[in-house]
Amino acid sequence: MGCGVSAFTGLGRGGRSSVTRLASEEGASKGSLSPFTSPMAYAVLNWGFTEPRFSSRYNYSKENGTFTCKKCGNELYRSDDKYDSGSGWPSFTSAVVEGESSNVEKKPRDATGRFEIVCKSCGGHLGHVFPDGPSKAKGGTGWRHCVNGAALDFSKKTSDE
Ligand SMILES: [Zn+2]
Repeated sequence: MGCGVSAFTGLGRGGRSSVTRLASEEGASKGSLSPFTSPMAYAVLNWGFTEPRFSSRYNYSKENGTFTCKKCGNELYRSDDKYDSGSGWPSFTSAVVEGESSNVEKKPRDATGRFEIVCKSCGGHLGHVFPDGPSKAKGGTGWRHCVNGAALDFSKKTSDE
């Protein structure tokens, strides 16, 4: 289980600190780190990096609201579809909209049976979809969207619209 191995494991040695340092440097040199507030967000969205397990503050968040793309603000997930998968990454049974008009684009399945997911609007890497989500009988879809919290922003719902 998990978000799996990112393309960046080849970076070796310094691990996380190297990645965030490189992301800071690239972001700063391209003048494009803003609106990213963290090098981790930059590395995830632009390079397909996977954040460390249990590192996201959204892991256990049960607040009512919407998760948006940290890069472009696209609406991606609802708190209603969020569940505790125990994987160490924020997990959702579905995107705000599924199918053709979804804001979350599924790439073709890789050899391990998972789909990479990216923001349809900006192409930023979000995470992966695995076929081990809660069943329909349990209110799920059978899918688990395993999303890097660093790629998301959260807007809390303030009214009961
Ligand atoms: Zn986006």
